[in-house]
Amino acid sequence: MIMVFDWGVTNAIHFGNGVLKDLPEIIKAYHAKDVLFITDPGLMKIGYGERAMQMLEHAGLRCYAFTEVQPDPTDTVIDEILRRTEGRKFDVIVALGGGSSIDTAKAVNIMLHNPRPITQYDGFNTVPNHGMPLICIPTTAGTGSESTPVCVIKDTAKKKKMVILGMNVGATHAIIDPELTYGLPSRITAATGMDALAHCMESYIATNTNVISRQNSIKGMNLIYNNLLTCYRDPKNAEARYNQMLGSTFAALSFGSTNLGLCHAIAMPLGAFYGISHGDGNAVCLPETMAYNAKVVAGQFVEMGAAMGMGEAKDLTADKVIENLYKLAADLEIPKLAAYGIGKDKFTDELIDAILMEGALTTNPKQPTSEDLMVILNSL
Ligand code: NAD
Repeated sequence: MIMVFDWGVTNAIHFGNGVLKDLPEIIKAYHAKDVLFITDPGLMKIGYGERAMQMLEHAGLRCYAFTEVQPDPTDTVIDEILRRTEGRKFDVIVALGGGSSIDTAKAVNIMLHNPRPITQYDGFNTVPNHGMPLICIPTTAGTGSESTPVCVIKDTAKKKKMVILGMNVGATHAIIDPELTYGLPSRITAATGMDALAHCMESYIATNTNVISRQNSIKGMNLIYNNLLTCYRDPKNAEARYNQMLGSTFAALSFGSTNLGLCHAIAMPLGAFYGISHGDGNAVCLPETMAYNAKVVAGQFVEMGAAMGMGEAKDLTADKVIENLYKLAADLEIPKLAAYGIGKDKFTDELIDAILMEGALTTNPKQPTSEDLMVILNSL
């Protein structure tokens, strides 16, 4: 494939079991003294937040903590953090958690160095100024947000999940410790893992895919397809958790330079309208949206099936790959949309219009019609 493409390395990545212990040393390399620490109540409850804060304090760093991040963060949470930290000075931000804590930290960093409000930055390369060093420690595997130039925040007035991406958005440093995922509840393991698989597959078939992103997609989908179920059934399996985290990192390094597709284009408005979490939404949508795309780019599905180890390309069909994807979702006990209180009465014209307007859709191999979307939604 001879083509012009962009692929950027957004941040340093420090990866491995136990690497959380290196947090103080990494902060010192930034010559920082005052830390804004951001995490969520779930991580405080299981002691991860406290552990990280103690490490910072023992290293002689001053730390102000915001520990109330809510899943799928909104502009109002960002405003609240800005209000609480008014007048304080920080020289580094540390985010511990899933994509919600990390994206909250990215948005706060943007707001501390650019005019407010955050809602004006929806889109590509919209943020004029670079923020301070931002160190992200993921605890899901997952969104890959620690390694993408992307920040997703809900604009509450517009009922839309904004995607702020491009320059001046990403983290400076990712500290990726697979051991932090051992305690993830199975349901969150499954949903966030399917989100990462969606990142790999959607990036691979995106119309703006490129030679480097594709290698990352292939590596990521192989690791995730072959380890996610073990993580779900045997949460403390060190090898599977390591591989799943590595897979989600490769996923980030694939879609971070391309775009996504129909699965995310449906999941994001479902989240914005009806509150289904990002992971759950993508997990529900993945097989059906891939089945839609497989009719258009069947050859690429055979390539992906072979990459995931489903068999030799010569023996595979796109239908077989889709069948395996449905089986994975069934094995992971991914529920139907109705289980989240999203019945057929919720498939309104407003929802369909929002899906058709999603940026993620622009690089999907086929542009669906309203009728296509209604068929897909009715099958979820
Ligand atoms: P999350 O951060 O919302 O966390 C979900 C739940 O899992 C929380 O209740 C949290 O407390 C809990 N949790 C997290 N880690 C845990 C652990 N190790 N043990 C026990 N509980 C744990 O979930 P997420 O799916 O990682 O993030 C979703 C957000 O990320 C959404 O807002 C989505 O839009 C965004 N996102 C961002 C990008 C990006 O590149 N910036 C990509 C995809 C999604």
